[in-house]
Amino acid sequence: MSKRDYYEILGVSRDATEEEIKRAYRKLAFKYHPDRNPDDPEAEAKFKEAAEAYEVLRDPQKRAQYDRFGHAGVNGSGFEGFSSAEDIFSTFSDIFAEFFGFGGGSASRARPGADLRYNLKISFREAAKGTEVEIKIPKRDRCDRCSGSGAEPGSSVETCRQCGGRGQVYRSQGFFRVSMPCPMCNGRGEVIANPCKRCKGQGVVHVNKKIQVRVPAGVDNGTRLRIRGEGEPGEFGGPPGDLYVVIYVEEDEVFRRQGQDLIIQQEISFVQAALGCKIEVPTLDDPIELQIPKGTQSGKVLKIRGMGLPALNSAYRGDLLVEVIVKTPTDLTKRQVELLKEFEAIEKEKKKSRVKNIFRKVMGE
Ligand SMILES: [Zn+2]
Ligand SMILES: [Zn+2]
Repeated sequence: MSKRDYYEILGVSRDATEEEIKRAYRKLAFKYHPDRNPDDPEAEAKFKEAAEAYEVLRDPQKRAQYDRFGHAGVNGSGFEGFSSAEDIFSTFSDIFAEFFGFGGGSASRARPGADLRYNLKISFREAAKGTEVEIKIPKRDRCDRCSGSGAEPGSSVETCRQCGGRGQVYRSQGFFRVSMPCPMCNGRGEVIANPCKRCKGQGVVHVNKKIQVRVPAGVDNGTRLRIRGEGEPGEFGGPPGDLYVVIYVEEDEVFRRQGQDLIIQQEISFVQAALGCKIEVPTLDDPIELQIPKGTQSGKVLKIRGMGLPALNSAYRGDLLVEVIVKTPTDLTKRQVELLKEFEAIEKEKKKSRVKNIFRKVMGE
């Protein structure tokens, strides 16, 4: 069977530069790659043919031989072409590394770490004022002895010889190939000669990590705080996950919450309600004085502006709502009973005279 001209296969001129040859091959290898052309014998043949042409033309010595003597010039030098795709992948691993992001960065194998969740219970006042809490998270973390490499400090990590650092090996079935994680390096692409003593070569350790959590003022039940990078570590250089701290706010004996408003109930006596008075009401800070107007009815809500809860991510602050509860006295002394009876007698007189006044007005007196 006569072979096609190598320059023709790659579609380059006879005086093409090394770079042009490499570029042309890369294009063809990508086009006819077995992964992209499953069960296509023609693509297979082209893939193999291009690899063979490139194998010869990339080497200045072999290329010179080929230029002078044609196929006979290189066949005699022990080069028999490729028998399998695996051969091609391992021979030109640099080319395929560029395609698929293998090699140094291991981008294709990089896996981000999982997110973690932590439920944090805080008091009502902590939620209102903001707080900083140290929490302990049981998690996997990057080993600091080996910086996550898994290799004992001072010892080196070697590129796996079996997979050439790709982490994958190719089992050939005829010409086709099946890729699987490399058994030598467990898919890491690297082999650790001297494993780290702390993490036993895993690159990660189980820790109870202490993390400072800044809880902003105004958080509510169910508020999720995201702490970037404090989830599980990523694998093969992937980014770590995030930690989500979910807030649970304990109930307060004094304050209730309604959006950003705070609600409190304040009891006053019926005399205070009738005459008006000044009372002291609690706030998130120091207690303040509140004027109760005379004639205040039970259940009346008085608003103190801006003394509520701060809103998250805004300058807005809710109000403090004071619900006034007028208390009926229950343990009266004899004297108090007398006074109240007298009070009631006057009330009746007032009503009677009011009726009289209305009567007079109606009669035109
Ligand atoms: Zn380690
Ligand atoms: Zn390997």
